[in-house]
Amino acid sequence: MLRIGVTGGIGSGKSTVCRIFEQAGIPVFSADACAHALSDNDADVRKQIRKLLGDKAYKTDGTLDRPFVADEVFSNPEKLKKLNRIVHPRVIKAVEEFGSGLTGVPFWIVEAALLYESGLQKKLDYVIGVVAGGELRARRVMERDGMEESAVRKRMQRQLDDDALRAKVDFVLMNDGPAEQLNERIAFFKTLFSKIPPKSA
Ligand code: ADP
Repeated sequence: MLRIGVTGGIGSGKSTVCRIFEQAGIPVFSADACAHALSDNDADVRKQIRKLLGDKAYKTDGTLDRPFVADEVFSNPEKLKKLNRIVHPRVIKAVEEFGSGLTGVPFWIVEAALLYESGLQKKLDYVIGVVAGGELRARRVMERDGMEESAVRKRMQRQLDDDALRAKVDFVLMNDGPAEQLNERIAFFKTLFSKIPPKSA
């Protein structure tokens, strides 16, 4: 059973791609949702984040104050590294548990915005990078989240740029066309991953 990663910048369409795979019967694990859940709910992770960033890291409703945390860590690479060291190993463990519980499918997928940053690629056979032009991605996110263009651009700047992503991934899925084209490309990958051997073989 192949382990496939799907990554891409904000607005590239990685969630859309994963939803289509899921509708076709392929199991999908969201590393981002897992990291969110751990930082909101896991007692040990919460304790370590509080120790690193202070009580302000959590809102009065008990959930992580994500804008506060983003401001803290993106201006301080050392803190970012420490935060990642708290959350990423736990996410990797959850991914492995998810995969080990599956049978009867040719492959399964991990969706992760920070796939390479978290070291997840070491646990995977192949990675698809979902790619689309910066203008198009910004427009999609502004429409999806009602975000200002400047806020979207700021988020985009914190992620791997297109060239760096293309250099790392095994396959590029260009998502700059209509839904039918995306569906065709996903069908191609579904066939491919039902036929090729694991990377290590
Ligand atoms: P990501 O998870 O990479 O941030 P999403 O999958 O949420 O991106 O896609 C961003 C937005 O763009 C969503 O509203 C989605 O419905 C839309 N979208 C994605 N791909 C396409 C496409 N090929 N055509 C039209 N809209 C798309």
